[in-house]
Amino acid sequence: MTLVMKFGGTSVGSAQAMRETAVLIKNSQKQWGQTVAIVSAMGSKPVKVTDLLLQGAHSAANGDGETYQQLADQLRQIHYEAIDGLLAPDGERQQILAENGRFIDRFADLCKAVCVLGELSPRALDTVGGMGEQMSARILAAHLRQNGTPAEAIDATELIVTDSNFQNATPRFDLTKQKTVSRIRPLLAQGIVPIVTGFIAANADGITTTLGRGGSDYTGAILGEALAADEVWIWTDVDGVMTADPRLVPNAQSIPQLSYREVSELAFYGAKVLHPKTMRPCVENGIPLRIKNTFNPEHPGTVIVPDAPNGNGGIKAVTAIKNLSLITVEGKGMMGIPGIAARTFGAVARDNQSVLLISQASSEQSICFAAPDEATNSIIASLEAEFKVELERKDVDRIWAHEPVSIVTIVGAGMRGTPGISGRIFTALGAEKVNAIAIAQGSSECSISVVVDDADTATAVAQIHDLI
Ligand code: ASP
Ligand code: MG
Repeated sequence: MTLVMKFGGTSVGSAQAMRETAVLIKNSQKQWGQTVAIVSAMGSKPVKVTDLLLQGAHSAANGDGETYQQLADQLRQIHYEAIDGLLAPDGERQQILAENGRFIDRFADLCKAVCVLGELSPRALDTVGGMGEQMSARILAAHLRQNGTPAEAIDATELIVTDSNFQNATPRFDLTKQKTVSRIRPLLAQGIVPIVTGFIAANADGITTTLGRGGSDYTGAILGEALAADEVWIWTDVDGVMTADPRLVPNAQSIPQLSYREVSELAFYGAKVLHPKTMRPCVENGIPLRIKNTFNPEHPGTVIVPDAPNGNGGIKAVTAIKNLSLITVEGKGMMGIPGIAARTFGAVARDNQSVLLISQASSEQSICFAAPDEATNSIIASLEAEFKVELERKDVDRIWAHEPVSIVTIVGAGMRGTPGISGRIFTALGAEKVNAIAIAQGSSECSISVVVDDADTATAVAQIHDLI
């Protein structure tokens, strides 16, 4: 049996966290026979190593020759402290200190070059940004070896082949599978645990790319697919996917089982649990994906499977995205005229903005959509340019924004075909005088989204959460 486990930044964020992570790896190795671990860069809140690395590169690009040096000191301190806490002086400590030191020296050198040139390419950002994973993987592997678990740190640049879309590269599956299987399988056969860097990959020329911020989850799923793993586990610092954001709803609970579909609805609406691309390799190969808490390993967490049982009353979770505006194009002359919607969204797309929700009534007198608050002015300007003639002719009466608003999304596959759920939702909102400004339900019937005033967000989420 093969288990692929990904450990997020907090799970490797300190010597103590890495020690606990190492125990989990050791136990899983015993239980599953073959375990592959993927690690993020160290990230004990609020300091994330990846952020520090990228901040260094950006400040250098702005001509600041000092900040990156301070950051290099900070990076040294974070990593050296972990190494001192984890590795015995008579073991590999010196070697791992030196290796980490070389990455940090290279970081400083690259920042210096960026500062001199005053130019920072996406390619350079990937080289700099991926060093955090390279360092954490080496520390964890050495700690495992010291404690009797054979382990080897591996840069995913040796495994995952992507296109050259730096900062957000797309893997090429066949090449990735070939490389991963030939590099990893022999290690597994010898009982060695590969400790693989998350986030990074390489293009066909071997130049480092990254899978986008938060991309280590995706690395887990890619390697799970390539190795035809039995399960992929994402270890993080929460007990799985919650019924709501615990900051909004203190009695939010972990959801035992979700279907792939339900999770994609949640991911789309900004649940911060999983990198959105993580689902695809698992869905296509039917690999169960489990989300667990390194700091509470006994908790079963959430397992994501092709089909999950429906919870009570069909609703499983409620999420909110804040800081949006609802933009409306409205006019009596819009009825029956083809192309208004296409032109509306064409104008938004030309403005490079993406739309989070769309709603149009069958009277066709208005069409509205939600977009990020900060994009409002530029979207309205592009729409006014697009509909200049119609505005003059009064076929379009006005284009306006209601802001700030939030989208509250209610998710659950059990809502499909179950009458009465929207009735319960709107009764619950009405009971606390929350006004639904717009509503959208996809035909998948797995989610209903309600646009409310930003000020009503917490009340709306709490009211709906009571229905779960
Ligand atoms: N370290 C990377 C980031 O912070 C990838 C990850 O942690 O998933 O974006
Ligand atoms: Mg993450």
